[in-house]
Amino acid sequence: MSTQTPASPERGDFIREIVAADVRNGRHETIVTRFPPEPNGYLHIGHAKAICLDFGIAREFGGHCNLRFDDTNPLKEEQEYIDGIQADIHWLGFDWGDHLYYASDYFEQLYAWAVHLIEHGEAYVDDLTADEIREHRGTLTEAGTNSPYRDRPAEENLDLFARMRAGEFPNGARVLRARIDMASPNINLRDPVLYRIVHAAHPRTGDAWCIYPTYDFAHGQSDAIEGITHSICTLEFEVHRPLYDWLIENLPVPSRPRQYEFARLNLTYTVLSKRVLLRLVNEGHVRGWDDPRMPTISGLRRRGFPAEGIREFAAMIGVAKADSVVEVGVLEHAVRDVLNRTAHRRFAVLDPLKVVIENYPEGASEEMDVVNNPEDPSAGTRKVPFTRELWIERDDFMEEPPAKFFRLAPGREVRLRGAYFVTCREVVKDAAGEIVELRCTYDPATRGGDAPDGRRPKATLHWVSANFAKPAEVRLYDHLFIRPDPGAEGDLFADLNPESEKVLLGCLVEPSLAETAVGETVQFERLGYFCPDPDSTPGQLVFNRTLTLKDTWAKLGAQGRQDTA
Ligand code: ATP
Ligand code: MG
Repeated sequence: MSTQTPASPERGDFIREIVAADVRNGRHETIVTRFPPEPNGYLHIGHAKAICLDFGIAREFGGHCNLRFDDTNPLKEEQEYIDGIQADIHWLGFDWGDHLYYASDYFEQLYAWAVHLIEHGEAYVDDLTADEIREHRGTLTEAGTNSPYRDRPAEENLDLFARMRAGEFPNGARVLRARIDMASPNINLRDPVLYRIVHAAHPRTGDAWCIYPTYDFAHGQSDAIEGITHSICTLEFEVHRPLYDWLIENLPVPSRPRQYEFARLNLTYTVLSKRVLLRLVNEGHVRGWDDPRMPTISGLRRRGFPAEGIREFAAMIGVAKADSVVEVGVLEHAVRDVLNRTAHRRFAVLDPLKVVIENYPEGASEEMDVVNNPEDPSAGTRKVPFTRELWIERDDFMEEPPAKFFRLAPGREVRLRGAYFVTCREVVKDAAGEIVELRCTYDPATRGGDAPDGRRPKATLHWVSANFAKPAEVRLYDHLFIRPDPGAEGDLFADLNPESEKVLLGCLVEPSLAETAVGETVQFERLGYFCPDPDSTPGQLVFNRTLTLKDTWAKLGAQGRQDTA
């Protein structure tokens, strides 16, 4: 698999160079771009790349970017998606201002332009079935053959097209096709379909229409109506560009937009196809479109990825003309980078082991001031209650520690972050031999975490007070797919990672975490980045793991590459 290194800077990509040249040469006064989602699903990280490009260019060149819903297929489109897409773009940090449009706003104009093509002998109504049209289309190496209806007189075409609109024919009975060239080496020019009959209510136009324009017929003309200067889309549309240009040249459109193509984003361990994402949701493999394992914007948000991290990622990977696959670790790196700078540190114990400080007075408590973010002094401190009974992480203790285990062990002293040094005096076990409690002592002279005599324990542990900690459910997330190229061996769903979500119950977190709002990501010290899930309630806190502190997958990947080199 070819992978892309995150080297190219945001500025200076080939599309920005084209736009800059057009501005220099005076070809356009104002740069107008558009982002044209089809509201048939939620946006994903690939769309984020396109959004950063479309809105980013408009912003950098002092123009504007339209949000245009490409709502030409009522069978798959829903208001829920229209609303979700707008929320996601805003959350990402972009705004279309007054420039919100729908392809469906142009249905009447598009219809008039279809009539124009018919009148000029450049479109005809075809009675062939979808299968027959496919058979007549030819192949990459063989020319297509003309439909027997191709030479219908304009009058007859106009009549049939009007009756298609009037609802006289069932779905699939007829289509309107452009009359271009059935022998063209470009299959997209072999009399492409412009209109199909679909008797279905549309989220915006209701029952007003039962014929709908295809993407190819709607897109360029919508661009022209809106005065789009640079219509930027992904590479799979490159072969559609001759048709885009043909329509613009053959119609009395008010402006001359141009289409430019860039490589779509592909990510390892990730699938970016709305069709597949919809199946994951509908077949219950995930908790919904916003499941924290989904590559959707709403999923990444619920996972705790900050918008800034996603924008940084887009800037890091740049915009290229050749398809490639980006390591998902690049996205995670960008997110860690932002979170390391911004996330407040907190204490949470995922697998609690009781500690009793024998020489700390029973019933007493004190508040320790603990730094929120060592990377950012302005983030201040918070109060964390300390008591005689505490919880620490079970794997921070070993009864018989091997040579390189520096954490707590019998007779050993460690630092409790922001509190005191404690020494383990006794290990208490239950009848089954399980360790249930550690009896420790503390050194009152080490308050705050430093000893007057300068001694330094080799380990610093996180902890919570048994009296004040809040119970929490913690959901650990990992890649949704087990292999870097999901589906490469056929069955995509067989590559789902069975351990992509692990739910831990009985975790204990410091009391301030009850105040952490949904949308805020914190670092659980020594464990990773976490954020409250929208499922969280004051009575039952729920946290999602955004990312581990270090990238374990990158290491495995590097290992794998070495092995196969
Ligand atoms: P599907 O995933 O079902 O093929 P789509 O992703 O093309 O659909 P659209 O709503 O048509 O969905 O996409 C809106 C815009 O986002 C288009 O301009 C498209 O080129 C761009 N886009 C879609 N996927 C990616 C991607 N992976 N990387 C970059 N841009 C993308
Ligand atoms: Mg599309």
